[in-house]
Order: sequence, then C-alpha cells, then structure tokens
Amino acid sequence: MKIKPTKIVCVGLNYRDHAAELKMALPKEPILFLKPPSALIFNNGTIIYPPQTRNLHYEAELAVVIKDRCKNVTIEDAAKHILGYTCGNDVTARDLQNLDGQWTRAKSFDTFCALGPEIVSNIDPDDLEIKLLLNGEVKQLSSTAKMIFNVRCLVAFISQVMTLEREDVILTGTPPGVGPMQIGDKVEVEISGIGKLINFVKG
Ligand code: MG
Repeated sequence: MKIKPTKIVCVGLNYRDHAAELKMALPKEPILFLKPPSALIFNNGTIIYPPQTRNLHYEAELAVVIKDRCKNVTIEDAAKHILGYTCGNDVTARDLQNLDGQWTRAKSFDTFCALGPEIVSNIDPDDLEIKLLLNGEVKQLSSTAKMIFNVRCLVAFISQVMTLEREDVILTGTPPGVGPMQIGDKVEVEISGIGKLINFVKG
C-alpha cells in the first residue's frame, strides 16, 4: 500500500487500560497532535534511530484512513467517510517528549510513522485485537474495545476542528506496554482482521 495523506492526526491517551497503567485520569475530550507526512514509512520500511534520542519507543495503534474530504461530520455519518483501517506504529522519542513539554520533535522524525500492510474495510473497528511484538515477544496486547473515544467519535471530533482530506490518517492511540526499541530490532504491529506491519530499526 502507498498513500499520500496531507496530515496524520494522532490521539494521545485513548485506552482505558493505558490510562490506568499511567495512573492518569481519563481525558474528557480526545487529546490531539500531528505528525508530518514526511515521517511516513510502510510495511518492511526501516525505522531510523536518530542520534538525538536515547529512548526510542514503539506504540501499536489502529490507523484510520479517510475516504473523502469532510468537515463537521456527525458520529452517525462518520463511517461513510472512512476508506479503511490499517496497522500503525506511532514511533516516539520518549526522552524528547518529556524534555520538550510538547510533542512535535519527539513524534516527527523521518520514519516515525509506520503504516501497513494493507488498507482493510468492512471490519468492525470497535472490537479488534491489537498486538505489538518486539523480536517475536509480545509487548502490547489489548482490544480496540478499550478505547476511551471510538473511531466514529474521533472522526467526528477531529472534523469539527480541521477539514479531513482523502488519504488523511488518524492514529487512534496506543494500549499499555509501550517500551524501547534498539538498533537491530524487528517490530511488528498485528491487528485482527487487518494483518501484520513489520519494520526494522536501524542506526
Ligand atoms: Mg501514540
């Protein structure tokens, strides 16, 4: 698959079990941030470990791909504007995220948005198993049923803020178990009904 989004809209802290792990209160509204399209890589692409960080993390996420230009979408109409779903890895320089106090640098290096392997439609996004494997070992395992704000809510909420364009991507947040990757690691995001996104970390 290859897509050219005008923007990648990401949601922070969107799993109840992840908020509990962090001992944080549940957000009352989705917390949004952006990744630039220049961060995109696809299945079998290389994640480059930047020299500026010492703590590069994976975050397995369900990615939503938008079907057509839309604005002020209702929750009821949101599904009509979704092209499909794929696996995502919201790669994060955790030390820079904490250091900077906002997330642009930590989330925006080239290769920090992995998507793939394919865009799948006709699945129920509200009940999918989501898993991350690092060198074959399961590190994250949850269900999209544990999202605080589900996919339709997110499309509606984001479209009240910004016009969404065809092939724009929404990364819907990560479940518990985030952790570091090292140079040489193989990282896989697997979502039931979609498939497996495989990437390798290089220096
Ligand atoms: Mg994330």
